Amino acid sequence: MAPELKCYNRTIMIKIDFEDTRTAFSIKSNRDLRRAHILFKLISYPILVKIGNPVINVFSALRIPIGWIVKPTAFKHFVGGETLEECQPAVEKLKTANVYSILDYSVEGKENDKAIAAALQETLRAVKNAGSNPHIPFAVFKPTAFGKHHALEVLSSAGTPDEKTHEEGENFRARIEQLCKTAHKNDVPIMIDAEDTYIQNFIDQVVIDMMRKYNKERSIVFNTYQMYRHDRIGILEADIKAARKEKFFLGAKFVRGAYMERERARAEKMSYPDPIQPDRESTDRDYNLALKISMDNLDVVSIFNGTHNEFSSMYLAQLMIEQKVDPADKRIWFSQLYGMSEHISFNLAAAGFNVAKYVPYGPVRFVLPYLMRRVEENTSVKGQTGRELSLIKKERQRRKAQ
Ligand SMILES: Cc1cc2nc3c(=O)[nH]c(=O)nc-3n(C[C@H](O)[C@H](O)[C@H](O)COP(=O)(O)OP(=O)(O)OC[C@H]3O[C@@H](n4cnc5c(N)ncnc54)[C@H](O)[C@@H]3O)c2cc1C
Repeated sequence: MAPELKCYNRTIMIKIDFEDTRTAFSIKSNRDLRRAHILFKLISYPILVKIGNPVINVFSALRIPIGWIVKPTAFKHFVGGETLEECQPAVEKLKTANVYSILDYSVEGKENDKAIAAALQETLRAVKNAGSNPHIPFAVFKPTAFGKHHALEVLSSAGTPDEKTHEEGENFRARIEQLCKTAHKNDVPIMIDAEDTYIQNFIDQVVIDMMRKYNKERSIVFNTYQMYRHDRIGILEADIKAARKEKFFLGAKFVRGAYMERERARAEKMSYPDPIQPDRESTDRDYNLALKISMDNLDVVSIFNGTHNEFSSMYLAQLMIEQKVDPADKRIWFSQLYGMSEHISFNLAAAGFNVAKYVPYGPVRFVLPYLMRRVEENTSVKGQTGRELSLIKKERQRRKAQ
């Protein structure tokens, strides 16, 4: 049973019902729904995903064009377009339901200087684009697009880096600073995604330094807290303490974390303690606790609730109502990935909360890893595809019965 919330906040009646499929799919045509139905049905068969992944990898390595099959299907559903400009229709469409967009340049795994320079130029362009469009409330980037993995790993560990690694670290810091400075100048908040634990220490240090510098008036720079890590509540509390003491605002994006299997496998292979929570319940507990701690410190913390979890979405809405915080308060955002969990996004937006979709973009060939993760996630995360499918079916039946 989906959580449902009905209550009065001051004089406004707030009703959130995640079962309301009419609202959830209000911007989807019958054709869109049919495509989504087929797509989620296909990815509910693990065997197809198992065969599909290596086939796509081989095609992609051999540079055999696969755009003709991917573009009208998974790409159309989960990706905004190949360029910033191509995403504009998606932004406009989401806007009609009061849902905002965050355009995420999703080119992954390129490490050479040329690719880093190209990613920097494109991300700077995306920051300025967000600054000029009130329906794009954040810019975002993956830190690994701007630094060499090996250097980030060494700088995140206890050892002393050699001169070359130190220089790589300073180059990384300079690029992150350029992005944060541009975001500050354009008055648009910017989020730094989190990836693997073994490179995160150095990224955390750089991002907190950026907050010290650019979050003096409000949260412009946001770090990501992956609550499947068992040490993150302690880190959040320490960051809040530092923000209070040093008088800056803390931008906190919360996610559960996307790399559990590979984190566990690496820890086992290299014989160090697993950085991930012992079980699902511990992740859920810390995720919701992080929301509560942040709400209790809302005078210094801005919250970005990046989840498809119905309870965690409803829980934050409920905390806001209990604490008499206006649903439209711009210090608090809810977010889901484009093409997923529309029942959460559109029902929260209809109730007046701030909701933004993460809309990835990039050339088909380069966003394939992102797409594959989405497909795998929908196959492996227990119940997610089933939930998406049942809501799509329900809405299709509702429309047919009209
Ligand atoms: C807007 C947005 C931005 C995101 N940005 C990032 C990012 O920067 N970095 C990142 O890593 N991910 C990011 N993600 C992905 C996110 O971390 C999750 O992988 C994904 O959203 C599923 O978690 P959930 O809370 O939505 O859903 P749920 O289905 O409720 O939770 C699934 C998650 O629970 C955790 N979990 C499951 N089983 C266990 C277990 N046995 N033990 C411990 N934990 C377990 C895992 O994290 C798993 O992904 C983002 C997601 C969204 C919606």
